[in-house]
Amino acid sequence: MKSINIKFWGVRGSIPTPGYSTLHYGGNTSCVEVAFKNGPHVILDAGTGIRELGKYLQKSKKPLNSYILLSHFHWDHIQGLPFFRPAFNPDNKFTIIGSDDPAIHLDQIISFQMDPTYFPITIDDMRADISFRSIKEESFSLEGVDVQTLYLNHPGYALGFRLTFQNSSLIYISDNEPFQHDKNTEIEKIKSINKEKIEEVFESYVENKNQNLIKFCENADLLIHDTQYLAEEYKDKITWGHSPVNFTVELAMRSKVKQLILFHHDPDHDDAAIDRIEQLSKKILRSYKSRIACRAAQEGMVIEI
Ligand SMILES: [Zn+2]
Ligand SMILES: [Zn+2]
Repeated sequence: MKSINIKFWGVRGSIPTPGYSTLHYGGNTSCVEVAFKNGPHVILDAGTGIRELGKYLQKSKKPLNSYILLSHFHWDHIQGLPFFRPAFNPDNKFTIIGSDDPAIHLDQIISFQMDPTYFPITIDDMRADISFRSIKEESFSLEGVDVQTLYLNHPGYALGFRLTFQNSSLIYISDNEPFQHDKNTEIEKIKSINKEKIEEVFESYVENKNQNLIKFCENADLLIHDTQYLAEEYKDKITWGHSPVNFTVELAMRSKVKQLILFHHDPDHDDAAIDRIEQLSKKILRSYKSRIACRAAQEGMVIEI
C-alpha cells in the first residue's frame, strides 16, 4: 500500500440513479473513503454510498474510529448517514466535521434529517460515540493528516478539502462551479454569451477569477472535482453550483495536478454520456499535450497515491 488508499462508494450527484443505464459508473450519491497508512480513517461525504461502505466496515472485528468530513448538507451528501450501520455500534467512534450554516449548528443540521417526521429513528438511537466539529475556511490536523478547507461556488456553504499526508495530497471538491454567486451582473453577462464561445470564456475565467482555487489545488497528486455537465448543458444551469467538464480540466491543468477524477455525475447522464465526458476530458488534455491521468469516477474504484 502507498501512503493513501482512496475508494469510491458513491459518485453520483443530486439524487441516486438506480437502473440499467447507470450500472457501469453506479447510482449512489457522494461518498469516498480515504485510508491513510498508519494514520486515520476518513470518509468524505455521507451520500447513499456510505450505506455499502458501512456494511463493508462492519466486517472488521476491530472498533472503528473514523472522521466523517461533510462538504455540505444537500441531500446527496448526507442521505446515507441514517443507514450507516457502524454508527449504531457502541464500540465505534465517529467525528462528524463540517461547516455550520450560519443559522443552524452542524449537530442540528444532521439530527434534523432524522426528525421523526422524516425518519423512524433519531440520532440518539445511534449508539456509537459521535461528536461534531464545526469548521470554516481553515487548516487543521487529524492524526498527522493536514486538512485545508475552501468555500466553493455552490448554493449554501459548501467546502472543498485538501488532505495532505507524508508529502502526498488529494483534493475533494464535489460541488463547485466557475462563477461566483454574488456577482449577478457578471452571471447575466455570461448567460448572454454565444454557446460556441463559452469554452473560451472558461479559459479566461479560470485564469482571472479562480486564483484561490488554483492555488488550493496546486500540485496535488489527485484532484476529485465536480464534472456534472458538458459545456453546452452548463450554459442553461449557471448558478446551479456545478461544473462543466471544460472548466474542471482547465483547473486541473492550471493547478498542475498529477491525476484528475471526474466526479458528481449528473443524474440524467447514463453510462454512455459519462464515457463521452471522460473521452472529451482526455481529448482536451491531449490537445494541451498534458500528462495528467484522467478517469471518470466509478463506484468501487480504488486509487492509491
Ligand atoms: Zn452534490
Ligand atoms: Zn450541493
